[in-house]
Amino acid sequence: MTQKSGRGEPLLKLVILGRPNVGKSTLFNRLAGRKLAIVHNHPGVTRDWREAEGKLADLHFHICDTAGLDGFESPEIKEQITQQTSQLIQKADILLFMTDAREGITSSEVMLAQQARLTEKPLIMIANKCEGREGRQNLYEVYRLGLGDPIPVSAEHGEGLDDLYQALVPYFKEEEEEDPVETPPLPEEMRPLRLAIAGRPNVGKSTLMNALLGESRVLTGDQPGITRDAVIIPWHYEKREIQLVDTAGLRRRSRIEASLEKFSARSTLEEIRYAQIVVLVLDAHDPLNKQDLTIASNVIEEGRGLVIALNKWDSADQKEWHNIVHKLGQSLSQVKGIPIIPISALKKRNLDKLMKAVLQMDQLWHHRISTSQLNQWLEMAIERHPPPLSGGTRVKIKYATQIKTRPPTFALFVSKPVELPDSYTRYLMTSLRDTFNLPGVPLRFLLRKGK
Ligand code: GDP
Ligand code: GDP
Repeated sequence: MTQKSGRGEPLLKLVILGRPNVGKSTLFNRLAGRKLAIVHNHPGVTRDWREAEGKLADLHFHICDTAGLDGFESPEIKEQITQQTSQLIQKADILLFMTDAREGITSSEVMLAQQARLTEKPLIMIANKCEGREGRQNLYEVYRLGLGDPIPVSAEHGEGLDDLYQALVPYFKEEEEEDPVETPPLPEEMRPLRLAIAGRPNVGKSTLMNALLGESRVLTGDQPGITRDAVIIPWHYEKREIQLVDTAGLRRRSRIEASLEKFSARSTLEEIRYAQIVVLVLDAHDPLNKQDLTIASNVIEEGRGLVIALNKWDSADQKEWHNIVHKLGQSLSQVKGIPIIPISALKKRNLDKLMKAVLQMDQLWHHRISTSQLNQWLEMAIERHPPPLSGGTRVKIKYATQIKTRPPTFALFVSKPVELPDSYTRYLMTSLRDTFNLPGVPLRFLLRKGK
């Protein structure tokens, strides 16, 4: 499951700094995902600090909670705290500086901020307790610390974690090169598959979820939450462990308070980010609309595997759904071969076919091509259709290598990357997709300068 943490590399260490009572432990507990975590208690000068393995969606890290660094009033204690803090800061890869948006800023925080500012470490400001109306009363005070824009969160309610995730992603996003020899991917049956069911309101998402899980299943049980509204429902399909991302809460809320426009922008993006494979449900009675296509392109842009379920097949007109399939083909031409499965969630028809497509997409999403095969293909593709001339010389593509899976990502070493037209990269992608039989899965090319 380690998606962006650099396999085989030590995990990044996140250290939560802040005065007592701002909510550091609450955030720590949330990120440490109690069950998985082995919590080490380290005796500290003033109080203990704890460290555990933590995760937020697909980001994995070490998280360190600096229990209570307070008492700057007393000179001896101040010295000790400063030392302990600087030790922790030194250990950190990323600092999370947490404040309380309700209480405002105290003098000990100003001191702590001074210390934090002296380091070169990346620092993310977090303003906690932001839930509800009075939550943000003193939010502006946080700017006084001069450490940048705070991310408003509520550690207790799990709000704002998607923004925290967004802020963290760039530090993990280095396209780490996996070493297929040293760390072979887990056998398929051991990897849980994180699956989301997305789509506009009323297309039949809840019905599908219930049909998959079985009627008896209650959707709002005590499941681990990943955001305020999204929970993971563990499930098995055949022998495969599936984690269904359920954002029913979000859907309910958006129905009440938001327009349809707002719905698609907010809730589905969140859902998509937490998933690996996304089933986009469409209503076979409704003509394909802009929102459907936006969701589909979001899935592709986020590099997730997309499977389309054309629901309400039981009562749809052949012509209606042929129209949809035709339009989908035209609109999603950048990724040829996305599976479109007609289903009836209500009558439980074709659900096996849908799940088979999901599992197959997951396989493609993990697909790895050997460097020698890749370069044989590259040579063939270039011979068939050479790169364009640029200022009299030809842009040369020297070499290709797959640097990661999920989704398959390839580095192309190019003499003049900026001069390689998009149309040529598209040609290569189509050719790669056809040659290695990778229908419907997003592929990524990274251009790198090579002599
Ligand atoms: P720490 O001492 O800084 O680690 O803070 P704790 O995590 O122990 O939290 C201190 C208090 O703040 C506790 O009573 C928490 O329940 C409360 N708290 C933590 N997070 C939130 C939040 O998001 N909103 C509100 N209203 N209270 C919170
Ligand atoms: P959601 O808003 O996407 O979760 O949609 P729901 O699951 O609440 O379904 C919306 C409506 O579509 C309900 O009235 C369902 O009974 C109906 N529906 C769902 N799936 C099917 C289907 O396969 N066939 C038909 N005819 N109706 C369906």
